[in-house]
Formats: sequence, structure tokens, C-alpha cells
Amino acid sequence: MNTDTNEFDVLIIGGGLVGGSLALALALAHTPLRVGLVEAQTDEERQASSAGDRALALSRGTVQSLKALGVWEGAAAEAMAIRHIHVSDRGHFGKTRLHADDCGVDALGHVVVARVLENAIQAKLGDTAIVRLCPVRTMGVKAGPERVHATLKQDQDQIHVSARLLVAADGGNSTVRTLLGIERQIRDYGQTAVVTEVTTTKDTLNTAYERFTPSGPLAFLPLERRKCSVVWTLGAEAAEDALRQGEGEFTARLQEAFGYWLGRIAQASRPVGFPLRLIRADRMTDQRVVFIGNAMHQIHPVAGQGFNLGLRDAAILAERIALQVQLQEDIGAPAFLESYALARRRDLERVVRFTDSLVRIFSNEFPPLVLGRNLALTAMDRAPMMKRFLSHQAMGYGG
Ligand SMILES: Cc1cc2nc3c(=O)[nH]c(=O)nc-3n(C[C@H](O)[C@H](O)[C@H](O)COP(=O)(O)OP(=O)(O)OC[C@H]3O[C@@H](n4cnc5c(N)ncnc54)[C@H](O)[C@@H]3O)c2cc1C
Repeated sequence: MNTDTNEFDVLIIGGGLVGGSLALALALAHTPLRVGLVEAQTDEERQASSAGDRALALSRGTVQSLKALGVWEGAAAEAMAIRHIHVSDRGHFGKTRLHADDCGVDALGHVVVARVLENAIQAKLGDTAIVRLCPVRTMGVKAGPERVHATLKQDQDQIHVSARLLVAADGGNSTVRTLLGIERQIRDYGQTAVVTEVTTTKDTLNTAYERFTPSGPLAFLPLERRKCSVVWTLGAEAAEDALRQGEGEFTARLQEAFGYWLGRIAQASRPVGFPLRLIRADRMTDQRVVFIGNAMHQIHPVAGQGFNLGLRDAAILAERIALQVQLQEDIGAPAFLESYALARRRDLERVVRFTDSLVRIFSNEFPPLVLGRNLALTAMDRAPMMKRFLSHQAMGYGG
């Protein structure tokens, strides 16, 4: 294996939730690989970033993977179990409820604030031999038949590094994708997710609420007994208005959209807006390069699937790299990368299609569609088989 400080076996660009998880998975695989993790943000910038305020709904499968990575113990105390899921269509009759008990499990998933999980991943990385390059930006990537070369920038210094495999985990606006000239497909939903925390007068009883409103979906995710993280999807202009509104006006609008399922709500944090776009890279691989997480697929948060999907990318890639090392084969070989892409394609297509159809079906007030989706929600609520199927999907066993 390489001992030169600038030579790696695997170089991961992007030390966010997915890149960090991949680095941990590789460290736990006990391979002799030298792994580098390049991250542009300092720890202080990450702690201060409002993006870290978003809450993530984690499927049961994701929690199991995080336990295996040793990350869950650092986040569990601040995570809330989801024991019930309540889906409704505002102003219409349809609703469906899913319960952990019906599936014989203690939780359908968990909710945790993204920053808590990021901190747990960073803390765990500190116990490994992963070489962390931070704060470092990626300025250039050039692949050759034997190695891939990257030019990095730290303050005013340029650093030249190389690896046998470069993994791009640098998010929806991936620099690696741009540097390699890989096209991306973008669908702008014309919507913004307004994220905030609220306190409630009624106990959440471990219930996650997904309410479909004419402007888009509204999720209340339980953070504490009387505290929720809200993800309110609004048209871009309505979101701008909401973000400009004073606290009283904003809370009144939110209360009207959600109703009184949890009693009276009061704002507990400043709302933050996330413009929503579906971004898909045209290719999952390039010469000695593979794209994972948001760098490959940034999806609408309506079904809370983005990180769940990205973590499966990381877990499967790590497993395959470890096997390839055991077989003493090249971890950057085109056939190896192609087989990884093939293995991931079905899961990716399924999640993108499911999420995209939810947005389109539930953001529509065309009467036959409204009737159809309400009948479907009511039918689902009365069909144990269908509910078990939905619960299975929510727990992350759909793939
Ligand atoms: C409002 C909202 C709610 C969401 N809710 C859920 C949910 O309930 N459940 C769920 O599963 N998912 C959810 N998601 C999606 C989830 O947040 C993403 O899927 C996840 O953050 C993707 O992680 P990532 O590591 O791929 O990308 P990112 O989190 O974007 O991380 C990319 C990292 O790369 C670094 N980077 C960028 N460029 C460079 C560069 N040139 N050089 C070095 N480093 C670089 C960045 O600093 C960052 O640390 C939600 C998203 C939003 C916006």
C-alpha cells in the first residue's frame, strides 16, 4: 500500500453525511487501504450553517447501518423514535395511519437533526486512520488509466494528490461533476422547503405527520414530546413571503395549514428556506471516479429519502471495495465501477420515481386526482396488507 502522504487508494471528495459514512465504512472494513477525505468546510462553519438545522427522518434500515458504523451511539440520545405515521390530505377526507406495533417493531424509524448526526460521524472519524484534509477545496480532477489526480487548495497552497479511486460525495452542486464535464438533469420544482422547529401543546406520542396541502407537503417530525421539526414545502414566492413574515403571522399560517392535531404551536427557531430541485448526474461513474449521495442524486425531501438512499450508496460501495481488495483486484477498474452502478440503479430509479410522483400527485388540485388520492389513502387505511407494504417502505426495506 502507499506510504507517500499525497498518494491514496481511495480519495473521497466531500465529508458530509454520505462521504463521512463511506469513510467510516471503509475504516471498519479493516482493509489496508489508505483513505483520504477532503472537506471544504471547517468544523466551525459546519456548526454555524443553518443547513444543519434540518431534521432527517431516518428509516429503520438506516438506523441499523448507523449502529453498525458505531455512529448511532453518538446521536441516539438526541433522536426520537417514530412509532406512528399519520398521512392526510388537508381539507379532504382521506387519511392513513401506520403503526410500529402492527409490524412487530419498536420503531418505524427515527428523527434526528442533521447537525447531531454530522457531529457523531465527525467524532467517530477521529478514532480512525482516515486522513482528513480540511478545510480543503477541490480545484481540478484528471483521470488516467492507473490513477486519478486531483488538485486541492488549502488557503493559498496547492496540493497535488492521487488515488486509485476517487469518490465524489460533494453534494448536489458537485464540483467534481462540473470539473469532469458530466452533464446533469435538473427539474426545478419551483418550490422551497421552509424548515423550522415548533413547540406543541399536545404530546407528539412519537407520531410523524405528513399532510398534503394545495401548496405542497407539510411534515411535522417529532423531536421531543412537545417539539417538532417542520418541513413546509411552499411555492417559491409563497416561501419568500413566509420567510419574511413576523413570528405571529408565520405561526398562524402554519397552524392553519397543519390544523390542531398537536394543539397550539409556537415557533421555536427561525425558519430557513431550501430551494427544491431534482438533480441527477447523467452518469454514476467515470474513469476511476464514482458519484454517491447528492452528488449523484439530489431529490425532493417529501418522502425523507435523500440520506437514506445516499447511505445505501456508501454501504454498498464500501462492501464492494472491501471484496475487491480481498480478491486483489483493481478498485478503480471500469468493470468494477460498472458493476457497482448496475447494482445501485434499481434502488435509485425506484426512489426517484416514488418521490417525484408523490410531489406531482399531491401538489395537484385537479378534482379527479384529489378524489383518487383520497380514496387511495382511505383504502390503504383499511387494508392491512397495503399498510404492511407501506410500513415496510417507510422502514427502508423497499429496495
Ligand atoms: C429540507 C430538507 C429535508 C430533508 N429531509 C430528509 C429526511 O427526512 N431524510 C433523508 O434521508 N434525507 C433528507 N434530506 C436529504 C439529505 O439532507 C441529503 O440527502 C444529504 O444531506 C446528502 O448528503 P451528501 O453527503 O450526499 O451531501 P451534502 O450533505 O451536500 O454534503 C456534501 C459535502 O461536500 C462538501 N463539499 C462540497 N464541495 C466540495 C469541494 N469542492 N471540495 C470538498 N468538499 C466539498 C460540503 O461542504 C459538504 O460537507 C433533506 C434535505 C433537505 C434540504
